[in-house]
Amino acid sequence: MPILVQKFGGSSVADAACIKRVAGIAVNAKKKGYQVVVVVSAMGDTTDKLINLSKEITNKPNAREYDLLVSTGEQISIPLVAMAIQSLGEKSISQTGLQVGIMTEDRHGKARITEIKTDKLKKYLKEGNIVIVAGFQGISEVTGEITTLGRGGSDTTAMALAVALGAERCDIYTDVDGVFTTNPDTVNEASKLKTISYEEMLELASLGAAVLHPRSVEIAKNYEMPMRVRSSFKPEDEGTLVQGVEKMELNNPVSGVALDESQARIAIAGVPDKPGIAATVFETLAKKNISVDMIIQSTSKDGTNEIAFTVDKENIEDAKVVSAEIAKEINATDVTVDVNIAKVSIVGAGMIGRPGIAAAMFKALADNKINIQMISTSEIKVSCVVESKDGDKAVKAIHKVFELDKVSKEKQKV
Ligand code: ASP
Ligand code: MG
Repeated sequence: MPILVQKFGGSSVADAACIKRVAGIAVNAKKKGYQVVVVVSAMGDTTDKLINLSKEITNKPNAREYDLLVSTGEQISIPLVAMAIQSLGEKSISQTGLQVGIMTEDRHGKARITEIKTDKLKKYLKEGNIVIVAGFQGISEVTGEITTLGRGGSDTTAMALAVALGAERCDIYTDVDGVFTTNPDTVNEASKLKTISYEEMLELASLGAAVLHPRSVEIAKNYEMPMRVRSSFKPEDEGTLVQGVEKMELNNPVSGVALDESQARIAIAGVPDKPGIAATVFETLAKKNISVDMIIQSTSKDGTNEIAFTVDKENIEDAKVVSAEIAKEINATDVTVDVNIAKVSIVGAGMIGRPGIAAAMFKALADNKINIQMISTSEIKVSCVVESKDGDKAVKAIHKVFELDKVSKEKQKV
């Protein structure tokens, strides 16, 4: 029997009625002939509440205790889903990460899965159970302590399980109908994509399009595991299929526009223009575990450069301190921080080999009098940093220029 992994996010298990709906979806899949593994997140905003509770105690929680705390949300939702399935007359058993054997690296708050033990899972499936697994959590392969995978990590649990079990597909159920050309909450004309490639999805997920945890897409891509993003409130709707680019007909150069408001910009001015300086700056940041996204170095003037880069807003305080230390060490003149930035990006596998795509994006911004502060590109992405107040306007303008409101379903091959 083929295996299907279904993942339900917090909003899909927010209350008893939602949990019963989820049970129905899982039972349906079982009746269609699948062995079903269900991965669930914590109910509604439980994880946020747990994090806020810890903040009421301390703003520097111990990492081990933090993981132990935030992993409890999923421990509440899994038995409830199992009970709901049992009430429908099917066999079901719930499992924490520890019980299954979801092994991770020895790191708290953002651990990566290193191995999933499948013996127990396979046994339960064989016995006819729908197995419910807690998302987002695992145990350190070194210490046996409970670890978590980072916010939104249940997608990754689901995908890793799908790969480990050799599933036919992994369905990610959420509260939106699929993957859209841009955020439908800000742009009315956003349309749902029937298919999207792993590569594009990876870029969009990394850019803060909140639908999927980036690591889950990375796993799907590496192991070519097909996945569907779909709504638990409209289970008959097939949502968006995420698959290999070779299976797609690339009619449009751009598939989606994303807005990322999670970054801040740091600029170090008066940096001596000599070999080894950039290495020192970014090595020091890396050593403090601060990830840098975009980097711009201006051309040299009077023997000095400006080096500007973006970091996650949540790391900004640390990054500020480290940058000031670095500036002193390398004799730079000053450090400025700007948190009022937004990164607008276009993503599309169809832009490869098609000139003029970046220019069309810049023109859309210019026509709307939006100033570009930084630019970065990859094979299938162009990103521009703009002032945060211009973010939404920029997305709308770019969405229109690439006619993403007209993405027709017929054009896209499933
Ligand atoms: N419950 C966790 C969170 O809210 C994991 C998840 O939802 O995927 O981040
Ligand atoms: Mg959640």
